[in-house]
Amino acid sequence: MFEVAYLCGMTRPIIIAIDGYSSCGKSTLAKALAKQLGYIYIDTGAMYRAVALYFLRNDVPFKPEERDPQAVAEALNRIQISFQLVNGVKTTFLNGENVEDEIRQMFVANHVSKVSTIPEVRRFLVHQQQEMGKGRGVVMDGRDIGTVVFPDAELKLFMTADPDIRTQRRWDELRSRGIKMSREEVKHNLLERDRIDSSREDSPLMQAADAIVIDNSHLSPGEQLKLALDYTRARMVHTQDS
Ligand code: C5P
Repeated sequence: MFEVAYLCGMTRPIIIAIDGYSSCGKSTLAKALAKQLGYIYIDTGAMYRAVALYFLRNDVPFKPEERDPQAVAEALNRIQISFQLVNGVKTTFLNGENVEDEIRQMFVANHVSKVSTIPEVRRFLVHQQQEMGKGRGVVMDGRDIGTVVFPDAELKLFMTADPDIRTQRRWDELRSRGIKMSREEVKHNLLERDRIDSSREDSPLMQAADAIVIDNSHLSPGEQLKLALDYTRARMVHTQDS
């Protein structure tokens, strides 16, 4: 079996799209894969979170009953999102401000899925994501990467896991960031986001027909990385041959 690092040097770069439910370990896998492959990792959830933070801070109406397309368009015109390395860690910036910690807070998590249903917001971010990935050599995670952003991605993974296991992982992560809340609150937020993300009209969360499902309920991060690297090798060989 060829080593991935060797294959990366020999084959043209590919796009790896990772979609799935909330707190399924998508970003853990995407980061590890990108590191192994020397690819760029793009966290599209952070982009939706940054827009939600801007809307919340600036009272931009986003609930279905109060939608105001002009206010949304004006707000989007004033939003610039970028990723920069801070102490070697990929960090989200909103109009030049480091918002990495703030976008992970519950007050953003509780509203981001509603903001993400707005078609103008999706168009704005999808365009940027397509630009970021146009040179290929990226691992991008989100909800609509394999279906809308890069329907031609060479490898599509769709992640899922048992809701109680996801809740525990998310709760552990929030605690490690010093954010205290009950498991019930965390579970409610995950399931509510899944519900809104899967049922929205514009680009709902769904498995692309050609995606490979990974249920990582009982996989360690190392095991899921090994599995994904096996799929990556297979796709790279296939892409090279075709
Ligand atoms: O990935 P993360 O959980 O940080 O994403 C936060 C929210 O952003 C999701 O619950 C979803 O509402 C939205 N999102 C989206 N499309 C993406 C990525 C995230 O709608 N590609």
